Amino acid sequence: MLRQLKTSSGAAIGKRFGFPTEPRDAQVLTGRWVKFTPPATTDARELLRLAEAELARQAVMQPASVRKVNEAARGPLSTTGIAFPEEVKYGPKKNGAGWLFLVTRPALADGRTAGAPRLVLGERAGKDDVFSRLPIAKSLLTKKAVVVGAGAIGSFSGLELARAGVGEVTFLDFDVVQPGNSLRWPLGRSAWGRGKAAALANFIAENYPWTKACFIPGRLGEATTNAAAIPPDPGNVLAPVFQALRGADVVVDASASEEVQLALSHYCKRFGVPYVVGHATHGVAGGLVARFLPDAEGCFVCLNEHWKDKRIPEPRVDNAGMVIPVGCNAPTFTGGGFDLQEISLEIVRTAVGLLSEGNYDPGGWTVAVLTLKNEDRSRTLPRWEAHPCPPHPKCCGASR
Ligand SMILES: [Zn+2]
Repeated sequence: MLRQLKTSSGAAIGKRFGFPTEPRDAQVLTGRWVKFTPPATTDARELLRLAEAELARQAVMQPASVRKVNEAARGPLSTTGIAFPEEVKYGPKKNGAGWLFLVTRPALADGRTAGAPRLVLGERAGKDDVFSRLPIAKSLLTKKAVVVGAGAIGSFSGLELARAGVGEVTFLDFDVVQPGNSLRWPLGRSAWGRGKAAALANFIAENYPWTKACFIPGRLGEATTNAAAIPPDPGNVLAPVFQALRGADVVVDASASEEVQLALSHYCKRFGVPYVVGHATHGVAGGLVARFLPDAEGCFVCLNEHWKDKRIPEPRVDNAGMVIPVGCNAPTFTGGGFDLQEISLEIVRTAVGLLSEGNYDPGGWTVAVLTLKNEDRSRTLPRWEAHPCPPHPKCCGASR
């Protein structure tokens, strides 16, 4: 990554390039560079020879500073940049020089020969360049999302929000990645044994540096009868969760726990934060994505009441597809990530719509019900039905 350009006398040109989130293993290597128009060749040896000839030619005029530049070439990895004045288009209405780099390991002290120079073509990684394919990202870069539950749906939703350019994504989850559950999880073997929330946050920090990734370990709604397990002076154990919720521009609830959903939808309303909830049903026969905005007339409890009244259809369930994994006391469903992503993607479209300040349509509905299987368990093309969620007489619609 080209971070800083200096003239051979040491004066900086332009601003130093860096990411908001520096990768943990970042290190700085110093290289040399020269400006000239190379011939149309991909022969790295020839290009390096030409670059060195050009540096030597300029050394006649500035011997002291060029000696310093050449010292940089004797490091563990020698990098020589060629800036050529080709008009390269990047970002909206911008032009700039093209870059290519020649990377070599110089002769080693133990007599082993140096490797051949490698030719690396410059790519642009500035914010404008990276997001030029996704203009809505501009309105997302300042936004914060909290994703509760980093299972098969929450993990993909959170990663996709980072890819879309959401400026900060916080994951809240207690669970650990296991070989079996990584089949419907975005990261594979490299994440086995790691906390789900931490693994996702690290992956985003390393790969999507425009997004600040955070995580809160811990389990919401966990009850304990073991007094020794409670910290002596815990204060409010929910304080970090409340802080994250209060600071969020959207909360995505992929916990698939009705208790957590009831609590989170309540607190989001209280804190004035848009709440998006999504889950699959047993057997992945269907699913739900609903959003409740702070000023909405109905709420998540109203939705549950409408379900009881059968005024809004509940997503279809297929109880045949349940399994209790060895060593696990709770049943889980058998199903592929490829079916669950139908729900993740609608969660992301909804969240992006709510965050994008009108640049991406969030849709005019409140509740979206997905059907993936027919009554006879045969597969059907994914079918979404949209519903409003009016205030229910037993909840928000009660006469006061
Ligand atoms: Zn209500």
